Amino acid sequence: MKKIAVLTSGGDAPGMNAAIRAVVRKGIFEGLEVCGIFNGYQGLIDGKIEPLSAGSVGDIIQRGGTMLRSSRCPEFKTERGRERALDQLRERGIEGLVVIGGDGSFRGALELSKAGFPCVGVPATIDNDINGTDYTLGFDTALNTVIDAIDKIRDTATSHERTFIVEVMGRDAGDLALWAGVAGGAETILIPERPYDLGEIVSRLQQGKDRGKKHSILIVAEGVMGGQELAAGLMDDAGIETRVSVLGHIQRGGTPSGRDRVLASRFGARAVEALLAGRAGVAVGMREHAVIDYPLAEVFDGGDAKDLGLYDLSKELSI
Ligand code: ADP
Repeated sequence: MKKIAVLTSGGDAPGMNAAIRAVVRKGIFEGLEVCGIFNGYQGLIDGKIEPLSAGSVGDIIQRGGTMLRSSRCPEFKTERGRERALDQLRERGIEGLVVIGGDGSFRGALELSKAGFPCVGVPATIDNDINGTDYTLGFDTALNTVIDAIDKIRDTATSHERTFIVEVMGRDAGDLALWAGVAGGAETILIPERPYDLGEIVSRLQQGKDRGKKHSILIVAEGVMGGQELAAGLMDDAGIETRVSVLGHIQRGGTPSGRDRVLASRFGARAVEALLAGRAGVAVGMREHAVIDYPLAEVFDGGDAKDLGLYDLSKELSI
């Protein structure tokens, strides 16, 4: 293998730049030519492909977002779209592709692999919702952003003796809400992986009040419902007045944490190693503190083996 390419796709996540840098530098270190594909799969189809030097990825390790930019590309979901993409890769003599993105992007990478083109996926999403890896790039940074927001909201909640609802991203996954809720000392955490009971939330709030608690913070993952909907439910059911804070896209941006930068560096390098070793159609990931690669198909067939012990603990600690 002499020439590889890298792209970022789907929702951006802090640490994508650090991963691009790692792919480029590790590739060059191993004697490869490395190309950057701009605007994700759309850019691949359109041929927005340029060689990247070691210097071209300087001064990006600390930046959020992605220097290669990202996109959603419906055309890539069609066989015709992927054929056009493969033509672009073959024309340029590119023999392997690193896809940095979330599970949608991984589906695209899996399709290219099935068509015989060597692809490796690097998991990057603040949602931490990719089967087979304990952590995805961006999760740690987003977690710290949410914790910071909760801490600030708590100041107001305490001063005004109010109940606050904080709506947290995560699509269908509750990791970000759960971890942030535990770290922020939230009284109640609602995640899609566990059913909730409005009556129980009300009695927990009452219990807290009875023992002199002046404020409460409820975290709701967007995959359960919107913060406003929960607020309306509490008002209608029990006359409880709340304030709602929807954190929104601030969770996706910002300088990557040290942990995400190191993870990105390790993931990016591992992706290049996997391509060089001929292990195509794999995703890189982290399991029990070790960097691994495993078949992309497992991301979709593996089932959800997430350990939700932290959820049970959150209930024990927020009495
Ligand atoms: P993320 O990677 O963050 O989950 P998306 O779900 O939007 O983001 O996926 C990003 C892109 O990956 C899509 O715009 C599309 O180009 C490609 N993609 C998603 N699903 C498939 C699929 N089933 N087959 C081929 N490509 C796909």
